[in-house]
Amino acid sequence: MARFIFITGGVVSSLGKGLCSAALGALLQARGFKVRLRKLDPYLNVDPGTMSPYQHGEVYVTDDGAETDLDLGHYERFTGVPARKSDNVTTGQIYSDVLARERRGDYLGATVQVIPHVTDAIKAFVLGDLADEDFVICEIGGTVGDIEGLPFLEAIRQLGNQLGRERSLFLHCTLIPYIAAAGELKTKPTQHSVKELQSVGIKPDILVCRSEREIPKDERRKIALFCNVREEAVIPALDVRSIYAVPRAYHEEGLDDEVCRHFGLEVGQPTLETWDQVMTRVDEPDGEVTIGVVGKYVSLLDAYKSLAESLTHGGIANNVRVKVSWLDSEIFEREGTTQQLEGVHGILVPGGFGERGAEGKIAAARFAREHQVPYFGICFGMQMAVIEAARNLAGLPQAGSTEFGQPTDPVVGLMTEWSRGNEIERRNSRSDLGGTMRLGAYPCLLDDNSRVRSIYGADSISERHRHRYEVNINYREKLEQAGLLFSGLSPDGELPEIVELPDHPWFVGVQFHPELKSKPFAPHPLFTSFVEAAVEQSRLV
Ligand code: GLN
Repeated sequence: MARFIFITGGVVSSLGKGLCSAALGALLQARGFKVRLRKLDPYLNVDPGTMSPYQHGEVYVTDDGAETDLDLGHYERFTGVPARKSDNVTTGQIYSDVLARERRGDYLGATVQVIPHVTDAIKAFVLGDLADEDFVICEIGGTVGDIEGLPFLEAIRQLGNQLGRERSLFLHCTLIPYIAAAGELKTKPTQHSVKELQSVGIKPDILVCRSEREIPKDERRKIALFCNVREEAVIPALDVRSIYAVPRAYHEEGLDDEVCRHFGLEVGQPTLETWDQVMTRVDEPDGEVTIGVVGKYVSLLDAYKSLAESLTHGGIANNVRVKVSWLDSEIFEREGTTQQLEGVHGILVPGGFGERGAEGKIAAARFAREHQVPYFGICFGMQMAVIEAARNLAGLPQAGSTEFGQPTDPVVGLMTEWSRGNEIERRNSRSDLGGTMRLGAYPCLLDDNSRVRSIYGADSISERHRHRYEVNINYREKLEQAGLLFSGLSPDGELPEIVELPDHPWFVGVQFHPELKSKPFAPHPLFTSFVEAAVEQSRLV
């Protein structure tokens, strides 16, 4: 039977609770346990799909088509366990569910209340859709003390009681700030945060204490005393040089030992070779390449979380450090600005939405094509590369996307119908915005004589999607005559999934998001190959 570890956060947000959950998952896995990671988000949106990337960062997409919190990306990158729709829930989803049931009459005339109806729905989510997992790690979003987090805390408190200590553990992530003027680490905010947690009936078993300085033994003892935990359960979590150093660092501080002790598990030490190997590659690279990422949300890098990690993974695969130059695409809408791209060894245009900055991305794709610089277009980045090729290679100067109006040549247009398994999905311009894109894993067949066929070493692949528009297959002939090969198509041959320029050192555009599937210990083949091309390029410039 699964054991449940509930992870809460205190004092401030951005403590790296998601990473803590992911790293703990990796450590338990390294001890031979089967893990599952879940996130409970207290905001009212049904999912983050309609939220601005500036507000919420990247939207992570699962194979089964859920638009989820970016922490699920950390979970997958650290454990390799594919996240599912049933691994992320929000207050919005819980309430929609409860209200739908109320309308159906499922509550048989009862007054519908936060306790027990909302808390029951949260508990059903935590306990539902499990197989034979040894551990379920549930991260609660937000910070203890937030009004909106209360029903979640109440639900996990009830679960702790229901499951008993043998099957539940509460881990609280907190901050021990260093006050420079006093020259001291301060434990008071942590004491208050634990008090807040205890006021809702939760007694933490383990404290993970983020700190920029070493936490001396005395301070650890003091935290243990005031917060009512064992001294060994106060785990210092100092800043590390790479997120992939976190599992080893937490292990050295005794986190997984303490978890096993709590559950009375007598198990051997974890095998952390994979993580040590990843870190050797990160620490001792043999050279460096610079990739220019031309995007719209470059002022908030969380918007490109998986992308940045995947580039690091591509570097790990090639034993080089990948430096990313984040470039605002709007810059390239002015004459004579593309020279800023001259020093980079590869250009990547990531996913994006809306017209702002689109012409700058088209200009970047053109620069890459004309200057023989490796180009990787992802989703929107593929669409912009196709528009560029249509305008400047295929003689269609009015080519554009219907995402921005009604161009004479809509080489990219709204998807109105596509098949998902045996079902047909239909949309029109009036469809809701939330949850209606082409989402999740879809198969794609690769052309035998293409670059992507040899990169993947397979003729059929499955990748994750999140888009509303697509390259119009009716322009295929014109574009292929002009030199742009449609090297990956949906099995019915209707949806262009990959384009490439055979007469170019490396020019690939993909309609899907390969960055969602890359892992440090299993870099995605497209990122490996793109970084390899950048290494080649760095030898030329
Ligand atoms: N805006 C484009 C579309 O909806 C691209 C989406 C994306 O890059 N994820 O098709």
